[in-house]
Amino acid sequence: MKKFIKILDTLEDNQDTTMLGKMQKKHDAFKILIATMLSARTRDEQSEPAAERLFAVYDTPMKIANAPLPKLEVLVKSTGFYKEKAKRIRMASQQILDRHYGEVPDNMTDLVALEGVGRKTAGCVMVYAFGKHAIPVDTHVHRISNRLGVVSTKTPEQTEMALEKITPKNWWLRVNELLVRHGKTICFPRNPNCPACPVKKYCDYYGDVYKPAHK
Ligand code: SF4
Repeated sequence: MKKFIKILDTLEDNQDTTMLGKMQKKHDAFKILIATMLSARTRDEQSEPAAERLFAVYDTPMKIANAPLPKLEVLVKSTGFYKEKAKRIRMASQQILDRHYGEVPDNMTDLVALEGVGRKTAGCVMVYAFGKHAIPVDTHVHRISNRLGVVSTKTPEQTEMALEKITPKNWWLRVNELLVRHGKTICFPRNPNCPACPVKKYCDYYGDVYKPAHK
């Protein structure tokens, strides 16, 4: 869809500012997987330091799989649901050792088979760790795609499928970074800053909510 390409093009400035965007190319796939798991339902400001604290002590599947659970819990405590996350990162680390010789798999099927790894996390690993084509859809990507009117979907899974159909492959690796960044800086879940939005002329929400008020 031409409209979506114009939107992506407008948002693109080659500056990666999300946690995963910054980690891309600087960290290995295992750290990107664990950082993504820690970031679920948590702001970057809380999950980033937790990942740093964790990796300063335990930075490989072997080390995390063998770490005492209470120690992991303390290290990731600044993230939401930290007890569950500590358990899951330890179990996923063990599975990576058992099933994949300590290497993070680079495909959706094997990634989603790991404990605590859903399609969004798996997609993030494929994109940010391996540069493989995927469109990870979190709450930002789901919300903004629907506001813009490029999809009309009820769940992130439906959004993922819909975006895959309308997005040329050369844009797949950028969709998550661009829309997540837009969601954190302008298109907030509540009270989006539409007047300052660089893509408002393409946006259905803006057309519906703002334009009538100025007629
Ligand atoms: S115009 Fe408003 S709702 Fe539309 S993308 Fe921009 S910030 Fe979001």
